Formats: sequence, C-alpha cells, structure tokens
Amino acid sequence: MAEGTRKHVELGRGERVLADPGRSVGVFRLRLPLPWPGVPHGNAWAVAAGDGVVLFDTGIHAPGSLVHLERALEMCGLALEDIRLVVCTHAHSDHYGQAAPIVERADCELWMHPAYEHARRWARDPDAAIMQRLEIARQSGVPEEPLRRYAAERGKNHESGIAAFVEPDRALLPGVVVDTDLGPWTVHETPGHAPSHVCLFQPERRLLISGDHLLGRISLFFDYGYSPDPVGEFVHSLDVVETLDARLCLPGHGRTFTDVHAHIEGNRTLVAERLSVTLDVIAAGDPLTAFEILPRVYGSELSPPLAQWLLTETLAMLLHLEVTGRAVRIPGELERWTAAAG
Ligand SMILES: [Zn+2]
Ligand SMILES: [Zn+2]
Repeated sequence: MAEGTRKHVELGRGERVLADPGRSVGVFRLRLPLPWPGVPHGNAWAVAAGDGVVLFDTGIHAPGSLVHLERALEMCGLALEDIRLVVCTHAHSDHYGQAAPIVERADCELWMHPAYEHARRWARDPDAAIMQRLEIARQSGVPEEPLRRYAAERGKNHESGIAAFVEPDRALLPGVVVDTDLGPWTVHETPGHAPSHVCLFQPERRLLISGDHLLGRISLFFDYGYSPDPVGEFVHSLDVVETLDARLCLPGHGRTFTDVHAHIEGNRTLVAERLSVTLDVIAAGDPLTAFEILPRVYGSELSPPLAQWLLTETLAMLLHLEVTGRAVRIPGELERWTAAAG
C-alpha cells in the first residue's frame, strides 16, 4: 500500500476524544503520519481497559515510525507498555504495519480477521506483489512507458510498510467481544475495502470504530484480486453497518463524525454513480480496455498515483458489473469490456 516517496515531516499526535465527566474512561485518537500523497495521516484508537488500553490499529511501519506512536501515546499520558491488546480493523500496512513490534514490546495479543492473505503476500514479497500489479495493469491496456516509470519508482522502495508478518493470536470474527472500560465491542465483518476488514461497535454508547470502511471524506478503495466481488461486498457491508445505528464514528483517517447514516448513504450513491457511468461508457461503442475506460469515467487530467488508484477502482467496478450480468469481459492479450446484451 505504500506509495510515493517516504518522508516523515509530520509527527504523531494524541488527543482524548471522549471522556465522561467524573469518570476516568478514555478514548484517545492517536494521529500517525503516513508517507502517502493525499493521505497524510492515519488514526489508531486507544481505549482504556483495566490498567491499560486496547489499541485499535497500529499505524504504518517505516524506519523510526514507532516513535510517532510512542509520542502520541505520551501526549495522552500513556506508554507502549500500557497496551494490553492490539486489534486491527484490517491488514493494510497503515492499520497493521506496526503490529509486530508493538505486540513484542507490550507483550500482548493481536486480534485480526483471518482473511489477511492479501497482507501476507504483500509483506513477504512486495516485489512479487508489484509484478502482479504491473501484469494486471498491462493486461488492462496501460502503455509500456508509464509501466516502466512505475516499476522504476517502485524499484527504489522495497518496503511494504509492514514491519514483519505476525499471525493473529485470535481470529477477529463475529461473536468475539473486545472488553474495555467503555463496555464490550462487538465484531462485524465489513469486507470490500479489504477482505480482512471488520468494524467494531460499542452498543451502549453506539460508537463505531470503522477502519477504512467509513471515512469522514467519502473515498472509495477496493482491494482488487483477492475476493470475487469487492464492490458487491462493500455495498453489503454498508448495509451491515447501517443496522448498527451508530451515533459516533471513529474512522481510520480524519476526525470523528456523527452523521453516520449520511456517510453510508453518500458511499452508496457514489458507488451507484460510478457503476452507472462505467456501464454507459462500455455500452457506448466498441469494447474498451480498463485503461481506455478510465478517462471516460474520471476525466483525462489524472496524476499517475491517482490513475493507478482509479484503475483498481475501475477494474473492481467492471468485475461487479460482470458478476451482476451487466458487463462482459473479452479475453485476449489486452482484456476488453463491453455491456451485456439486452
Ligand atoms: Zn485500508
Ligand atoms: Zn487506511
């Protein structure tokens, strides 16, 4: 997941976001820097539990990155050794990357959903994962020149953002409860953004730790290539979260927000719009590659990192249209797409 050049000008910051008057119960937002253009920070959440905290998500691994987490914890009167349990919303590097050094230092367990193969492949062999991405891009019609540039850029940076692949001690599945001083948190599978994605919900206070499933700024990302239909899974996961009726969302990036229902609706609308435009584009004429579809859906002024992100999104949209019988894939050296007849 690590993109672009790595620079850590930002520092980790921590703040208490929720406290009951007269009670010492705390929820802390630990805002950790990310080396990605357009995504400068990610959140880890520390929730008081007994004589320590449960840490939800970890921040990305990079040389010196643990210092940012320690600094953020310190701003909340906490230390790494106070972490009693690490819970990851999903296995992307910005949510799981520092799990290995944290569980080692804090001597605690890690809980994560078992569908983490996407991260294991990435952590074990980032170069192979990049080669696979390049192959998908080539087959999608991306010309040789941008592919060469991308490969050269990536060749300088072999880091996965994951310190080491550490197996979870417990499978984070429905039925598992995470106990904190705020009360228990229930586990809800929300694949789509990533196959391993879960949201955690505290029913009495109606708090939702949403990872990257719901963000304050509506932005789509689908881990393409690891499950049959990431877009369909994501839309279903929106339904799952809606039934929870959360009051306050603690997202994986950005500030907390309260209008959870509006955010769910916003995501649904955006997915429906993108599907509809994509379908119109492939219905308009000759079969097209995903790379040819891209500017027709998003406009032609796309920077290379954005184009790569959106190529993945376009492929996920096409796959969903295919799975739901609205698009047809025409195999060949270059894969092309057309609308289903009727
Ligand atoms: Zn993610
Ligand atoms: Zn994230």
